[in-house]
Amino acid sequence: ATPLSITIATGKGAQYGVLFRSATALETLARVDTVVLDKTGTVTAGEPTLVAMLVDDGDGGWAEWAERIDDGLLALAAAAESRSEHPLARAVDAAAAGRGLELPGVLGFASRPGHGVTASVRGVDGVTHDVVLDNDAPEAPAREMARHGWTPVALHVDGAVRAVLGIADIVRPTSATAVAALRARGIDVVMLTGDHETTARAIADSTGIDTVFADVRPDDKEHVIAELQGAGRTVAMVGDGINDAPALARADVGIAMGTGTDVAIESADVTLMNGDPLGIVTAVDLSAKTMRNIH
Ligand code: ADP
Ligand code: MG
Repeated sequence: ATPLSITIATGKGAQYGVLFRSATALETLARVDTVVLDKTGTVTAGEPTLVAMLVDDGDGGWAEWAERIDDGLLALAAAAESRSEHPLARAVDAAAAGRGLELPGVLGFASRPGHGVTASVRGVDGVTHDVVLDNDAPEAPAREMARHGWTPVALHVDGAVRAVLGIADIVRPTSATAVAALRARGIDVVMLTGDHETTARAIADSTGIDTVFADVRPDDKEHVIAELQGAGRTVAMVGDGINDAPALARADVGIAMGTGTDVAIESADVTLMNGDPLGIVTAVDLSAKTMRNIH
């Protein structure tokens, strides 16, 4: 493509909120045959809400769990999540705030991207607790949550699972339309997520995505991209999180949601300013047009 045609397409993209950081990205997109979509914050809005909590009321047997929001446990969870930037953490904190809960103090905090958080929290009783929130929930309650398309988050206090939180995230209104439009252009669309298989399936089904790579750790997201490339595919990766950054960099074209983290945006070649998945289609079409008309 000529420099002029690139300038024109780049300007057009900007009008639609699609920012190209390089001419190469604009040129490569026309050859992309596979679009990989992150789930949380990309296919979904990334504004999850706490919708259910299953609490272990018995002696550890999950036969005795009950569905109720336990304010004491929620306060511990929200304190631990208060230092995390993950969309799931925002849901836990919003739920605690909505119930007017006062959060206990956080003495220590560590985040494990793609897995969860660990914190040392001083409860209202003055006792310090080890609080962990992660994707390692017992099977029965996790399955129950995932069946609804909710993400199960396990709450461990002092080494024991005390509750499973069910967090629901709405699918972006244009996700299904964008998937259909990409497929109509002969592009394969796959979902790549650190979330559980059942939850991911439910979201994929509702947006018309057939292929799902679930339970993928952050490091492995990049490897999935590399494997697709090894199989001869030209891959665009679309994501929003810190955990997507290596995969965005590895992909032939990295596309970041403008609503996402700075790290994702810096690792990508294209930014969708308002986080609208239809921007992927706009980008593909601009690229095809540029490469077709002026060579
Ligand atoms: P995705 O690939 O869908 O954007 P992530 O890779 O960020 O999801 O996270 C994968 C899984 O790790 C989440 O579905 C969740 O179960 C768990 N997780 C990650 N961060 C947190 C957190 N701050 N609190 C609780 N769970 C978390
Ligand atoms: Mg994400």
